Amino acid sequence: MIQATPVIVATYAEIALKGRNRTVFMRKLINNMRTALKGLPVADIRHVESRLLISLSEPEAATEVAARLKQVFGLQWISPAVPLPRGDIETAALAAVAADREPGLEEVCEAACALAAAHRGEARHFKVATRRSDRSFVLGSPDINRIVGAAVHQATGLPGRMHAPDLVINVLVLKDEVLVFCAKEKAYGGLPAGSSGRVMVLLSGGIDSPVAAWLMMRRGCRPDFVHFFSGRTAAEADTDKIRRLAAGLKPFSPLPLRLHLVPVVPYEMRAMGAVPDSYDMVMFRRFMFKAAARLARANKCRALVSGDSLGQVASQTIFNLGAVAPDIRLPVFRPLIGMDKQEIIAWSREIGLFETSILPYRDCCSIRSPKPVLTARPRDLLRYSGAMDLDAAVREACDAATRLDIG
Ligand code: ATP
Ligand code: MG
Repeated sequence: MIQATPVIVATYAEIALKGRNRTVFMRKLINNMRTALKGLPVADIRHVESRLLISLSEPEAATEVAARLKQVFGLQWISPAVPLPRGDIETAALAAVAADREPGLEEVCEAACALAAAHRGEARHFKVATRRSDRSFVLGSPDINRIVGAAVHQATGLPGRMHAPDLVINVLVLKDEVLVFCAKEKAYGGLPAGSSGRVMVLLSGGIDSPVAAWLMMRRGCRPDFVHFFSGRTAAEADTDKIRRLAAGLKPFSPLPLRLHLVPVVPYEMRAMGAVPDSYDMVMFRRFMFKAAARLARANKCRALVSGDSLGQVASQTIFNLGAVAPDIRLPVFRPLIGMDKQEIIAWSREIGLFETSILPYRDCCSIRSPKPVLTARPRDLLRYSGAMDLDAAVREACDAATRLDIG
């Protein structure tokens, strides 16, 4: 009788392209997997012939282990598999060949038939796809496909089909084992958390900026979050929603996350009378970016991240995006810049943040002047910055920031 699924096979994509740094990326990836799987019955994680094999000590944990692995950036596909010892299979096959019989590959066929029965659903046709990562195996891939395919056909009645079949049963021949698997869950790809350095994410209470954060995390960045609140204290501003958004990103991070809460009062006090209404929105965004840059430097972050999408609102015209912070030397990443709102919403749902993002919240951006300039000139921004002493407002706000640990 075939055991249930005590191994999970995971593949990685982009790391394979890394030349000399590959071992560093691999080590990070495996460490991150261990952190994500903490508390689950995992016996070991092995890097075998361009795949990661996760052995479970309790087969029932397979679903939970696969779900956690999906949150580990750098992985591409995740498949619960049935592992079979290659030695026994090969000895039997060699004996058959010596006796001039067709090898039966009984264990492989049994596993393949059990998987086909479990996964066939509405499938109308199937194929067996064999890969021999170790080519010294006594049979070639076409032979294995034929022998196992015949067994599956006999057991299920399904016809085989080479092109775009509904069901694919994979047989992977490694040096010491043969893995048989069916379900392949796509993971998110990207680079291992912590491999690209730290960034400071401007996190508002909306849909966009958490998605922007997630996309940069997927590229291996470790985020700190900064949120600007109106009101005298963070408690008064009720930033619970912001904390929940940051906490929602935590499952994707093996490292603790930090949220900086910064009051906007210092900006408002100084801008009053010094900044015309039409420039208030852009000047306020300038204040946010300069304060975020200051916090970034203090926290070893090498770039800023914001959730801007070109043309989505008045503050996100080409002119206003360009004018906001010409004097900030840190790179500003805007991973949503070319995305439609519908695409951003789809990501927000996919990563499980949408419901939190649409909870009511009074963002300090939503209370700014309703008619902002669409073509702010950097020259004017610099003039108003001098008039209100923006640098002093930035200093005061950062000095009054509170830092919270998330998870
Ligand atoms: P979101 O859905 O992320 O709130 P938005 O479409 O509402 O974005 P804006 O309010 O113009 O757009 O904000 C654009 C970006 O500026 C946000 O994605 C975020 O990165 C940053 N931002 C806006 N308000 C704040 C805030 N209160 N604190 C920190 N960052 C902010
Ligand atoms: Mg917003």
